[in-house]
Amino acid sequence: MRLYAPGARRSLVAAAILLTTLLPGCGRRDERGPLDSTPAEAPQQVQAEQSPADAPTQPATVAPAPDQRAEPAPTEGSPGKPASTRPVSPLNLDWPAPTPEDKWTQCPFTQKRHDPNNTLVAVVVENSAKARPQSGLVEADVVYEALAEGGISRFLALFHCSSCKKIGPVRSIRPYFAVIAREWGAPVAHCGGDAKDIEPVRSLGLVDVDELRDGRGFWRDTTREMPHNLYVTANNVRSRARETSASSKVIPVSSPPWVLGRWQDEPAAGVEIVYGPRYTVTYNRVTGGYRRSMNGEVHKDRETGRAILAANIIVQFADSRVAYSDLGLIIDLVGKGKAVFLTEGKYQEGAWEKTSPESPTRFTTSDGETIRCAPGQTWIQVVPSNASVSPIK
Ligand SMILES: [Zn+2]
Repeated sequence: MRLYAPGARRSLVAAAILLTTLLPGCGRRDERGPLDSTPAEAPQQVQAEQSPADAPTQPATVAPAPDQRAEPAPTEGSPGKPASTRPVSPLNLDWPAPTPEDKWTQCPFTQKRHDPNNTLVAVVVENSAKARPQSGLVEADVVYEALAEGGISRFLALFHCSSCKKIGPVRSIRPYFAVIAREWGAPVAHCGGDAKDIEPVRSLGLVDVDELRDGRGFWRDTTREMPHNLYVTANNVRSRARETSASSKVIPVSSPPWVLGRWQDEPAAGVEIVYGPRYTVTYNRVTGGYRRSMNGEVHKDRETGRAILAANIIVQFADSRVAYSDLGLIIDLVGKGKAVFLTEGKYQEGAWEKTSPESPTRFTTSDGETIRCAPGQTWIQVVPSNASVSPIK
């Protein structure tokens, strides 16, 4: 599928050569935007939870209120813990191991109350300047950040507990995001992509919730410029996934590939991750977790103004290169490499390994132990193998 002119491609190649970045790229897809050339989907106003299409599969009685996440964790398993802490801080939480009867009520990501109807779903979210601030990342359980093109990154946000009412801007998928979604078994919501980007979604058997093929459940926010204005709710992704999940044998996982627990390691107040000459992500420890910044600017939710607060940060070093054929970025997420972990003010180096697209990524300490994470939001920063990542003391 050729969606840009040969001349444009040549100038992109020249631009790519000029860039001496870790990851040359060209922003080709962000410039063309899969939506720009497709007027048919411009006035998408499919309305979310009220949509008739959602009604049969998403009765109002099942959908939990969005503020459910703010409720305190169940107290049965944590005697002696003050019940008045709102919101629960991962730093102060004295978390017990979930008991078998808590299986369906205590979230293995956050340890907050979890509605079993809320299965894991993934959404591809844009991170160009025009896409900021994003909506809904603040409610995700796990967020991956990886480079797309031109030194610009993109997110794959995983929602487990949340019934987040507005997630976006939703953009096109990349093949490595399909590999991540497969590992989690998550239906993946996105807005198109090149044929080679979408192919892994099909070959890996994922439930594909592609707005370009079927716009139900997505809508455009007219206060923002296209194509940076496409949104979806977590429950609409779930509804769409339920319609088509019969054709997929992939089942979303119900717990992360790490254990909840504490570390005894080197302290660090944060981490600085240099993605390229124009893009740096930092995390600084504050009360309740790590505050995330992009190029020195605090990363906030567009809807609430809340700053993103990560409980855990995993930096995954992965071989990355630009394909000569079409300048798409290739990131090897099957294989192994270095990793860096931060939680509760501790900094540790370790490794990751993933043996197939279907298998989970194993994150281990230098002793070979599965890493421990605090309850709360986890950010997985996929970076090139030679990226500069340094602790903030
Ligand atoms: Zn959950």
